[in-house]
Amino acid sequence: MTSYSLGSLLYEGKAKRVFVTDQADLVAVEYKDDATAFNALKKAQLAGKGELNCQISARLFELLEREGIATHYLALQEPNWMLVRPVQIVPVEVVVRNIAFGSLCKQMPIEPGAPLEPPLLDLYYKDDAFGDPLLTDARLERLGLLTPAQRQELERLAMAVNACLRQFFAGIALQLVDFKIELGFTADGDLVVADEISPDTCRLWDLQVSDASDRILDKDRFRQDLGGVVEAYGEVLKRVQGACPSPRLGK
Ligand code: 5GP
Repeated sequence: MTSYSLGSLLYEGKAKRVFVTDQADLVAVEYKDDATAFNALKKAQLAGKGELNCQISARLFELLEREGIATHYLALQEPNWMLVRPVQIVPVEVVVRNIAFGSLCKQMPIEPGAPLEPPLLDLYYKDDAFGDPLLTDARLERLGLLTPAQRQELERLAMAVNACLRQFFAGIALQLVDFKIELGFTADGDLVVADEISPDTCRLWDLQVSDASDRILDKDRFRQDLGGVVEAYGEVLKRVQGACPSPRLGK
């Protein structure tokens, strides 16, 4: 990895800060300890969360890369920093669901916990001001966010991410219930997986635990005031680390 110096803040989101560097092909992402839910109506500081999510994300991005799925990830830098390729984020949140839970069961007569086979893929328009609404084909076309070919590629990538992560998590006794990913276009016009993949963005249930609350090892612990959020994320990292010990370092 070439040496670089950190530049100005490019973008600050709810859970991360993105900084430019003096290298046009490198940006640095800092994972924050801020936790938010329900469109930021609920907020807290959880010491250590940023580092845990960064460490988990780095390993999962590397796993995807090894499976031939392109991501923005380049290298881990500091415990809560990673270097990534600059991308133009597509303002579409792609959610893939293997088990019915969360918003799906609030909006549809589907029992929580029902298996979804084949997995269900939903697209949401990423805009907090509108509350990230579910997109229809017609709305997506109307907004002109993606060409039909780009949309097909986005869905192919999301299903490939699901197949890879689902199998990986099963191997460490975690059930991948659902997850959200964001994708972006590189300067070359390639679509890659971006943002983060962590217990903030995935629902993960401990397959070794039967109690419906105790098995939750993801952001639902924060959303539902179950406590032990950082401990749960720590357990996820411990298992991910056991399977993917040392991520690439950028120094
Ligand atoms: P639901 O649609 O049930 O709220 O969420 C489905 C999955 O996508 C869950 O794993 C949830 O964590 C993730 N997800 C959906 N929208 C967001 C979002 O705006 N931020 C984060 N961090 N995760 C999201």
